[in-house]
Amino acid sequence: MSDCLFCKIVAGQIPATKVREDEHTVAFRDINAQAPTHVLVIPKRHVPAFGALTAEDGPLLAHMANAVNAVAEAEGVAGTGFRVVCNNGAHAGQTVDHMHWHVLGGRNLGWPPG
Ligand code: AMP
Ligand code: ZN
Repeated sequence: MSDCLFCKIVAGQIPATKVREDEHTVAFRDINAQAPTHVLVIPKRHVPAFGALTAEDGPLLAHMANAVNAVAEAEGVAGTGFRVVCNNGAHAGQTVDHMHWHVLGGRNLGWPPG
């Protein structure tokens, strides 16, 4: 999508601190980190929200999960634990309409979330 912030990051039109990239996903540091590790994993394809996913997106989801685990390993939080968050829609606080999975770690994370 031409006016999508995260599509522009995928295309390299907006700078981001990318930590990983493969054929289907990009991972980059959140600009407003909420934990020592706060990386966003996104599909290169414009998927507006988690709620837009269907069973046909199974292969993409497998790549997303693989990317999350690779990022967690590289960040050194795979062993200590990390949280994967995908805010979907207004009540969850989704602010960017290109699906993104937050990977948070490096400290004890509270529960329940706000
Ligand atoms: P959400 O509120 O779940 O939609 O998450 C959107 C996230 O994107 C927030 O944590 C923002 O800090 C982050 N964000 C917004 N713009 C950028 C950007 N240009 N580079 C990196 N992260 C961003
Ligand atoms: Zn997009």
